[in-house]
Amino acid sequence: MDLTYTPEEEDFRARLRTWLGEVLPRLPEKPAAADWPGRRAYDTTWQRMLYDAGYAGLHWPLDAGGQGATPTQHLIFLEETERAGAPYVGANFVGLLHAGPTLAVEGSAAQRARWLPPILRGDEIWCQGFSEPDAGSDLAALRTRAVRDGDSYVVSGAKIWTSHAEVADWCELLVRTDPAAPRHHGISWLAMPMDAPGVTVRPLRTLAGSTEFAEMFLDEVRVPVGNRVGAENDGWRVTMVTLSFERGTAFVGEVVACRRVLGALARAARANGRWDDAVLRRRLGRLHAEFAALWRLIQWNVSEAMAGPPGAGRRGSGGGVPGIGGSVFKLRYSHVRQELYDTAAQVLGAGALDADHEWAADRLSSLSYTIAAGTSQIQQNIVAERILGLPKGR
Ligand SMILES: Cc1cc2nc3c(=O)[nH]c(=O)nc-3n(C[C@H](O)[C@H](O)[C@H](O)COP(=O)(O)OP(=O)(O)OC[C@H]3O[C@@H](n4cnc5c(N)ncnc54)[C@H](O)[C@@H]3O)c2cc1C
Repeated sequence: MDLTYTPEEEDFRARLRTWLGEVLPRLPEKPAAADWPGRRAYDTTWQRMLYDAGYAGLHWPLDAGGQGATPTQHLIFLEETERAGAPYVGANFVGLLHAGPTLAVEGSAAQRARWLPPILRGDEIWCQGFSEPDAGSDLAALRTRAVRDGDSYVVSGAKIWTSHAEVADWCELLVRTDPAAPRHHGISWLAMPMDAPGVTVRPLRTLAGSTEFAEMFLDEVRVPVGNRVGAENDGWRVTMVTLSFERGTAFVGEVVACRRVLGALARAARANGRWDDAVLRRRLGRLHAEFAALWRLIQWNVSEAMAGPPGAGRRGSGGGVPGIGGSVFKLRYSHVRQELYDTAAQVLGAGALDADHEWAADRLSSLSYTIAAGTSQIQQNIVAERILGLPKGR
């Protein structure tokens, strides 16, 4: 990948910058954190604005309704939207960043036509029903059952930590379709409508006070067989595609946001006198280097994914699945993010205990990053076994 910008890319950046300058002042005010219907409306309004301007699914393949942009254009988009203070992907996270990309690679033509346009337009929100009370890191231990009955699966079980379940229209759901098969071989990947009878969502409160995720109880929920993505009992393979997107590219935009916070920390430290502390200054400098290195890793991962790494479904123009480098990124990013907000606490001093301060709240939520999308221990196992070639742990 050539890391210098071509005149076309600079032109893309300039046009995007102009557009952001025009539209951002027209955005409605950001709703309160606890106002979930308001947050859904805000996030989907922004998505619709991106769609109308031709920026939705920039790096998705053309035949999935995306713009087929180059990796560099995609990264320029992330840099510029963050620089301009544009809204975060929010409730559109799962749909845009891993359910949609999975459907683009693994879905049939009919499935892509049904589900991808509403994701890109911001009409439909997705959530992820993978984890269960006894199946998180050991995902293949999942027990939610789907029994075939004519043209439907009848699904019963319980899911947990389902982010944005309260406002979701669809769920990428993992179910066990063959209880007799070896664990990894009896699983299927379904798209479940969240308004189907038998779906109960019970919000959970996080350490940071948010109810961003929920428990989900499924009581004989009927899901059409046509909503299965991939073959019956081949869901583990489809799941690996979803997780590759989730770990490899879904958090990329957040790195840009962290770099902005780092700059703000340095300015705040200068203003309140803590800049005189050489240890703090060294920490800020090291974080600067860490985020620069992460950005290079992102460029590498994204360009590999666009070219189509081993195991990719459809290749080229953005359809590729991120490779195993995503685990390296996820592992390092989630730790550096925690270090960033620990440093914020040093800069804030006693103010770090004020839960209303944005950085104090972000510090609490940063703790979840080493767990969400697969814990650090699991990423370390993956890196050890699949990159370093070390023996498999017991
Ligand atoms: C903010 C947040 C949002 C989330 N959103 C969603 C969502 O939308 N949908 C969804 O399905 N899930 C979601 N999750 C769940 C997340 O994927 C799981 O929490 C995660 O996979 C860990 O599973 P667990 O909580 O069951 O922990 P466990 O699997 O019980 O693990 C407990 C501890 O044991 C360690 N451990 C387990 N096995 C091994 C091993 N073999 N080797 C070394 N260490 C091991 C783990 O690393 C961990 O430290 C979310 C989690 C968080 C924190």
